Amino acid sequence: MVSVAADVECTDAVEVTEPIGVDLGVKELAVVSDGQIFKNINKTRKLKQLEKRKKRLQRRASRHYERMVKTRCKKSRGLEKLEKQIRSVNNKIRDQHTNHIHQMTSKLVKTKPAFIVIEDLNVNGMLKNHRLAKAIQDNRLAEVRRQLEYKCNWYGVKLIIADRFYPSSKLCSDCGHKKTDLKLSDRTYHCDECGMTMDRDLNAAVNLMQYGMRELSA
Ligand SMILES: [Zn+2]
Repeated sequence: MVSVAADVECTDAVEVTEPIGVDLGVKELAVVSDGQIFKNINKTRKLKQLEKRKKRLQRRASRHYERMVKTRCKKSRGLEKLEKQIRSVNNKIRDQHTNHIHQMTSKLVKTKPAFIVIEDLNVNGMLKNHRLAKAIQDNRLAEVRRQLEYKCNWYGVKLIIADRFYPSSKLCSDCGHKKTDLKLSDRTYHCDECGMTMDRDLNAAVNLMQYGMRELSA
C-alpha cells in the first residue's frame, strides 16, 4: 500500500479492506460489490421542489419568448430576471447532486479498499438510450469518476477503469457465462447456464471487482 503523507485526514492507520467493484447506474446512483447501495436523490423532497420551481420559471420564460417574437421587442427586464432565477435554480440542483456524490465517493475511498473498479463510461453509447440521457446531461457519472480519481489519489487507493467493451452487466459473476439477451428492463440477472440469480447491478459490480483481480494478477 502506498502511504499518503500529504493528506492529514488519513493519518489514522486504516486497514486495507476488500477490493470493490462499483456499478454506476440509472436506477441507483451506484451499487457496490459488497452490497452497499447509494441511492439517487432525484426523489428527495428538496430536489422535487427545485425541479418544480425550475419548470414554473421555464414556463413563464417561454411566454416571454413568445411575446418577444410576436412584438419583435428586445429582451425585457422581466425576462432577464427570470433567466437569472433559472440559472440560480440550476446551480442549486447541481450542488445537491455534487454534494451527494461527494458523500458517496468519500465513503467508498475512506474504507481503503485494496482497489476500486468502475466502468469506462461510454457516453456516446449511453446517449442513444433516452432513459439515460438525462443522467448523462447532468454529467453526474462523469462527476463520480472525477471525484474518485482525485480522492483515490489522495488516499493511495488504486482506481481501475474497466475496458469500455467489458460486458460487466452481461456476464454471470458466478460461472462467467455471457448472456446475450439481457434487456435494460431486466432488473434481475438470471444465468441460464448455472442457474444463479442476482440483482442485475450487484452482479455487474461483482464482475467489475473480479475484473480488477484479473487485471492485477495478469
Ligand atoms: Zn452462471
